[in-house]
Amino acid sequence: MHQLTKTNFIQYLNCPESLWLLKNKPDNYPKSEFSLFLEKLIKEGYEVETYAKILFANSLDLPENATPEYTKSQLKSNHDFYFQPSFITTKGVFARVDVLEKLEDGSFHIYEIKSSTSIKKDKKHNHLKDACFQKYVLQENGYTVSKASIIHLDKTYIKQGEISPNELLEIDEITDALNNLYSSVVNDINAASNFINKEVINENKCSCKYNTRSNHCDSFTYFNKDIPIYSIYEIGHIRAKKINMLVDNNQLSILDIPVGFDLNDNQQLQVESVRQQQALIDKPAIKKELEKLKFPLHFIDYETYASAIPKIDGLSPHRHLTFQVSIHTLSESGTLTHSEYLAEAMELNDDMLIQIHEFTGFTGTFISWHASFEVSRNNDMIQWLPKHTDYLTYMNEHMFDLETIFKKQYIDYRFHGSSSIKKVQPVIVPNLSYSKLDVQNGTMALDTWGRMVSDSNFKEDILQTRKNLLAYCELDTLAMVEIYKELKQL
Ligand code: SF4
Repeated sequence: MHQLTKTNFIQYLNCPESLWLLKNKPDNYPKSEFSLFLEKLIKEGYEVETYAKILFANSLDLPENATPEYTKSQLKSNHDFYFQPSFITTKGVFARVDVLEKLEDGSFHIYEIKSSTSIKKDKKHNHLKDACFQKYVLQENGYTVSKASIIHLDKTYIKQGEISPNELLEIDEITDALNNLYSSVVNDINAASNFINKEVINENKCSCKYNTRSNHCDSFTYFNKDIPIYSIYEIGHIRAKKINMLVDNNQLSILDIPVGFDLNDNQQLQVESVRQQQALIDKPAIKKELEKLKFPLHFIDYETYASAIPKIDGLSPHRHLTFQVSIHTLSESGTLTHSEYLAEAMELNDDMLIQIHEFTGFTGTFISWHASFEVSRNNDMIQWLPKHTDYLTYMNEHMFDLETIFKKQYIDYRFHGSSSIKKVQPVIVPNLSYSKLDVQNGTMALDTWGRMVSDSNFKEDILQTRKNLLAYCELDTLAMVEIYKELKQL
């Protein structure tokens, strides 16, 4: 019999098939490319728990590996609150409650601790259903749950000095909302438990065959082995209704799409690019866009670190701290110069802004990829370091997003329907490659930097790590320069 944890249950609610695969054929379950990101989320969850525990007096912290039998024996002790008590039902449904309060009438109050800044009720994260799951397991063990609450971060909290858990956290009672959902969640728990214990399911298809790419998980190709390269799922912003029509006609390749099928202009271009096996480029429109740019051109990229618990004064939960910047500046005569900055500590980087201000001055156009990110970081820094307002406002007002060209004017079937720089660069400038770098993406960069500056157990060579981080960010801006040069030569 497979055990069903709360995490498993939430996965089941999102997709029964992917949970079945995890439980029954773990070797075939794809190792998520987000594992580093998930590790960070788990660490942050523990950190929030540490602060939440301070809110409860007369408490007993049960060991992480405490069994349900041990929990039962400890609940007889004379404490008001228990941290991490675990329970299991006869059907293998397992819960570890964050905080359990023993009330005077013998019933219990469960608290779920979340590192979010609100109670989530969406399909992917439903905190009310999490709490229902915990209540179900306790009730099956003969305990009465009469109250439930969610403890989450207060998004208005701004760190100033030592963190006070009372100011950092909010406790919202959810008893009524939980009771309204409870019976339907119990049905889902039973269904989940039965489903994961099925010996066979149809492994040749899953329901996402009828869904757009944004809904697919990493198991999509395992369940849908017949999906060809350049499939209909790659078409930018295609609606599920159209995917349904095409799948029903077994038209899974872009090449199968009948002439005259209702698609918008951009989607038609993408289809044409696949049919002709070549890029479709609107050269006059690109020329017009590039002519608007004023030299010198400053190709800029930030790396940022966000954490649930703010690490430095002035920040709120989950706000992004910019710790690194790379700027390549291209003059009208073709000279290329470079400036870079990598913070040595977790702090607001006044030095960084002084350095880049001196490097670029109030000149030219700034160019980034998916510029709304850089613009938002500049707005944050205006708030935290207002003396740089004029410079950062200039930068935002003279920002050009190079990605926009690849949304409408340069469509290449080899981008697979994406305009991300990681898809565009290997096609346009294949001689530049991230594959030899030790830091290969933004998540790795933030994780590495965060550990380097704040983890006393950081064992790697700091000088080499700094070189690796600088090389990654430098390549991001150099790739933009080379892509720009290719566009100019069209
Ligand atoms: S692709 Fe969709 S339906 Fe298929 S396993 Fe993943 S989430 Fe489930």
